[in-house]
Amino acid sequence: MSTEQVLNRALGAYLGFACGDALGATVEFMTPKQIQKRYGVHQDIIGGGWLGLEAGQVTDDTQMSLAIGQAIIDHQGWNIQAVADNFVAWLESDPPDIGNTCRRGIMRYRDSGELFGLPRDDDAGNGACMRNLPVVLATLNRLDYFNEWSLQQSHITHNNPLSNAATLTLGHIVNHLINGHDMAACIQEAERLISQYSEFSYNPYSGKASGYIVDTVQTVLHYFFGTDSFESCLIATVNQGGDADTTGALVGMLAGAKYGVQQIPERWLTQLDQQLVAQIRQQTTGLIRLAGLL
Ligand SMILES: [Mg+2]
Repeated sequence: MSTEQVLNRALGAYLGFACGDALGATVEFMTPKQIQKRYGVHQDIIGGGWLGLEAGQVTDDTQMSLAIGQAIIDHQGWNIQAVADNFVAWLESDPPDIGNTCRRGIMRYRDSGELFGLPRDDDAGNGACMRNLPVVLATLNRLDYFNEWSLQQSHITHNNPLSNAATLTLGHIVNHLINGHDMAACIQEAERLISQYSEFSYNPYSGKASGYIVDTVQTVLHYFFGTDSFESCLIATVNQGGDADTTGALVGMLAGAKYGVQQIPERWLTQLDQQLVAQIRQQTTGLIRLAGLL
């Protein structure tokens, strides 16, 4: 497998993630019926939504990912304090959106210096899982590091077995995809998760697409395994509504890793904030290099 292919899939994952975030934010918290009534099929990055975004603007999913990616690049390796400090800086930058669990964890760190929250049953939102792509990229060749770094960054805000398991599983799937492994390897990861926690079973699909990590992962896996192109995968996912920016981002990450950056529709890439695109390209190269693959 060539370096070029790895970079192509890694870029596909990160830019696909941002596209899904920007596309899905428009219809976040809407039901499929409301979306259909208002947009027919929602398929363009037009901004708006409850956050009143500019077209091409992204939300906390992409911003928190960039915060982690930048900490890794700045320190040429893992520095959990730097990750937490970047979260604080981001919180203080008055972001368009921040989840309650994320806010609580970041404020605990800011006020006490405590990096990890105690395990909580109500920490099963998707906020830790959604921001883990930079860790996947930096550890493409080092899965032992992947598990450790992923759980550390997660536990700044989310300390819950369902969140932990989902974060690791989606990361393992992206690792397989970028490394060019087949779909059987990806399905096996999903099945391993379901054998551990049967609530993640997505067949038959319940149609629930909320920010609860179980609903999020079911939606992402259902549409990722059930579609055959980058574009159809993202459109189907975000039209399910609910936490559509996060389901869109996560499915965009998987589909981008599978199909490669050239399958991302040009109209989406050009609509994204171009400073953001440049930052994502730069981080992707830096993280892949750190993984020893460039
Ligand atoms: Mg968001």
